[in-house]
Amino acid sequence: MLTIAETTEGALVRIAEIAAIVPAHVRPRVRCVLCEHALVPKLGTKLRHHFAHLPGSSCPAAGGEGEVHLAAKLHMTLLLRELIAARLHLPAPSACGLCGEPYTQALLTFESTDQVQIERSVGSRRPDLIVRRGDRVIAAIEIVVSNPCTDERWADLLSTNAVVVEVRGEDVLALPDTQTWLDDPIEYSRVSLLQQDPACPSCLAALDEEHRRPRAEAITRCALDVRFPDGRRTQDTFEVWREWDGTRWVRAFIQSALRGRLWELEGTCDDIEELRVRGREVFRSYRAELVRGAAAYSCDTFAEDALPGTILAELASSWWWQPARTRWVQVYSFQEAAARLQIRRTTFGRWVKERRVRAIYVRRDRDAQEDTRCFDAEDIDERTRRLENWRRTAPTLTSQQFFALRVRNTMDAIRAGEAVWDEERSG
Ligand SMILES: [Zn+2]
Ligand SMILES: [Zn+2]
Repeated sequence: MLTIAETTEGALVRIAEIAAIVPAHVRPRVRCVLCEHALVPKLGTKLRHHFAHLPGSSCPAAGGEGEVHLAAKLHMTLLLRELIAARLHLPAPSACGLCGEPYTQALLTFESTDQVQIERSVGSRRPDLIVRRGDRVIAAIEIVVSNPCTDERWADLLSTNAVVVEVRGEDVLALPDTQTWLDDPIEYSRVSLLQQDPACPSCLAALDEEHRRPRAEAITRCALDVRFPDGRRTQDTFEVWREWDGTRWVRAFIQSALRGRLWELEGTCDDIEELRVRGREVFRSYRAELVRGAAAYSCDTFAEDALPGTILAELASSWWWQPARTRWVQVYSFQEAAARLQIRRTTFGRWVKERRVRAIYVRRDRDAQEDTRCFDAEDIDERTRRLENWRRTAPTLTSQQFFALRVRNTMDAIRAGEAVWDEERSG
């Protein structure tokens, strides 16, 4: 039933406003928004007051679905105008993401200059109602009577980048004229933009209250794992904290699991980055003290509870813990060993393959990606000593002596199962 019509000036009027004007002959003439033909107010006692087309009208809104559709469109237009005039928001019934209670989300907040436009034709591809802010469409409302929008139509509406809602005509008409939309939000059958984790006002207030309670939070955390040549191990965690007194951050301090509170700062502690920088300074000097004499240490700023796995810094890279012999051993890496012997890395690689140098396998740490291969320092050191010896005598030799030494060395090497210096010279 049509309960809203248009005056000759183009304003929308409700049937109740017309009925209130007496006597009847001073009531303004009204017309149908769609066909623009005159409508007659029906103010009887049997049916709800409404406007009717004249008998024989061919207007699509003169009965059936067309009438429901137009009636709902006009009703919603007036509801939207009220929201806009009061600068309220477009409501969407929803449930609180925290307590589950029903509550109304605000899809968008209107400005008093926003404009509602009604699509007056039937079967258009344009939305039934749009709300404009300047040249921008901020909301598109589709009113459906029997069938919901097709997915294609819905995609079309979404492409406007506006808030898009689909609502059933009967749900719009079920809202009495006397009641505002906000008191009893209309259920939408589809809506484009709902907040994912909404919270109702009472839950928001509770969160706010929670936020005001005094508390402390850890800004940064670091775990330190120190190993000493005698096998001792020291583990500590180091955390920068700050305290909230209910209104602001008032105090920061650094906590070491081993030593307790190391540092404290009174005053405004809003700037987390600044606290981190100051924390790092304190940490560095504390670390320097803790790792004195260590063979290796690691610090892991991401460790949550377990101590770290990855060795980030090594005080003496040549010390490794050898579980089989339960002691620390000094070792050289592939590169270090080749450099120390002053031979090419390819040559050294061949020695390794031929087992001329003792390679030891060191498990880097329990969480490390792969084990590292190192070379026993005793073996490499012995070879280095021989190289140094040979070097000391070699420069004073004549070419004949040099040749003779080379032959002797080669013979010695062959006897010992390794042709060392010959290879060094020719390589
Ligand atoms: Zn009409
Ligand atoms: Zn809630």
